[in-house]
Amino acid sequence: MSTLHIHGNRRTLITGAGALGLGALLVPALSACGDDGGGLGASDAAAQTADVPDLHEFDSAADIWDAMLDGNQRWADGVPVHPHTDLEWRDSLVEGQEPRAAVFTCVDSRVAPELVFDAGAGDLMVTRTAGNVFDPLVSESVSYGPAALESPLLVVLGHQKCGAVTAAHEALLAAEEGTELEEHEYALPETVEALRPAYEAAKGESGDPVDAMIKTNVLLTVQALKEHPNLAELVADGELTVVGGVYSLETGLVTEVA
Ligand SMILES: [Zn+2]
Repeated sequence: MSTLHIHGNRRTLITGAGALGLGALLVPALSACGDDGGGLGASDAAAQTADVPDLHEFDSAADIWDAMLDGNQRWADGVPVHPHTDLEWRDSLVEGQEPRAAVFTCVDSRVAPELVFDAGAGDLMVTRTAGNVFDPLVSESVSYGPAALESPLLVVLGHQKCGAVTAAHEALLAAEEGTELEEHEYALPETVEALRPAYEAAKGESGDPVDAMIKTNVLLTVQALKEHPNLAELVADGELTVVGGVYSLETGLVTEVA
């Protein structure tokens, strides 16, 4: 398998192209700004683009994660700037990609990582399955960004009110208690089985059992990926950091879990 690594020059080129693209966006927004009527309007949001850190400026996992959380705060505040969606940036990606983080999350339509972290094209390598459960096939995709494209950060992202985890909790609880489970048209038996370890491990946790299972599933997945054959050495060498988070549909915020 051939991979494209074009460091140095490409990164410089991209930063320049990105700055040009942002500048082109910024000028009309600022000139249209005029009288500030207060509040955070579209022009204010556009003006903020100039201050938005580019994920490609960072090499360390901690800095990339901080920048992603900054993006998440913009999303939560309703002022995303949608970086790296301009034509110049898109053109710069034809030669290759250097995603700064891999994200493994749920298929849920409300949890699109590029939106949640206010990122753009080429920034994140995303793998999604129902309930963010994985198996050998999926884990190859999850590990591709860190292992082949040198992304120094891998984020496992669960989310509030996850339908897959909720359904698995209902099914496993019903099986355990020998109670009748209402037939569900879209039951995902493989996913339910994959979530069994999280169900078992979350027993005895305080609070809502589904919330506990969502968090536990993230933590178990983080641990499993740290030990994955494709990733264990990178983690041991300090070249890859794996973090877990849970996304709140209510607030729009990602909370790191540990
Ligand atoms: Zn989900």
